Amino acid sequence: MVRRLILTLFAAIKVRKRLICLFLIILICGYFVNWRKLECLWRYGNFEPHQWSETVPQVRTRIDTDEKILALTMDACGSKTDSLDEDLIEFLIQNEIPATMFITGRWMDKYPEKFARLAANPLFEIENHGIAHRPASLTGQSIYGIAGTKNAGELYDEVALNADKMEKATGRRPVFYRSGTAYYDEGAAQMIEDMGFQTIGFAVLGDKGATYSADEVEAAFLTAKPGDIIICHMNHPEKETGRGLMRVLPKLKARGFRFVLLKDYADKLK
Ligand SMILES: [Zn+2]
Repeated sequence: MVRRLILTLFAAIKVRKRLICLFLIILICGYFVNWRKLECLWRYGNFEPHQWSETVPQVRTRIDTDEKILALTMDACGSKTDSLDEDLIEFLIQNEIPATMFITGRWMDKYPEKFARLAANPLFEIENHGIAHRPASLTGQSIYGIAGTKNAGELYDEVALNADKMEKATGRRPVFYRSGTAYYDEGAAQMIEDMGFQTIGFAVLGDKGATYSADEVEAAFLTAKPGDIIICHMNHPEKETGRGLMRVLPKLKARGFRFVLLKDYADKLK
């Protein structure tokens, strides 16, 4: 009945008006379709990855430089028991040591005030660690018991939803992405690059998921070479990462190293 009514109405409209209606319908549909996501689904929907690691070719681990600089990167993953190492943050502020922070949407939801305080401090750069801290897979690969994204659509949402959330909260859209666990397959890493984000890994494993003792953190940091990206965690005050950092960062400074933000070397990452 309704169908017949619509068809009768449509037949009554003159051809020119019909075309205008059609054009308007296409325009309205186009406004609501996420073309970028559709393109990712089209290009990566049937991709068969062969690699699964922290070091697939697209992932940047260093700054290409001879300068004696290091990029300290700190993750906030948003696991059930994590929080924020306030002593470590205070230490960085007191000693004017910049850090690039990879933060998940989960952590932002748990600690909106802490997030706002970090984002408001120009010493810190806020970047994207995924909406739900999932390894970047096109096929649902897992690592450390954490399930990766199942397909291109889930990966798109994992990356884009947190970028949107961060942009809304801070007014600045993140430019770098580190997946939950820092694992990628090569197709996932390329898709993230196509979405406009540089994928970031690390050259120095600073605290092995906040499991290192302070001595081990210190030993790991002291292996850093000019241009290295160092990964560690700021979300486990109960662990020894903070103590290790407070001990080793002044030593690295005394050796002539300067700490920099990734965004200031965006065109020199490799
Ligand atoms: Zn993490």
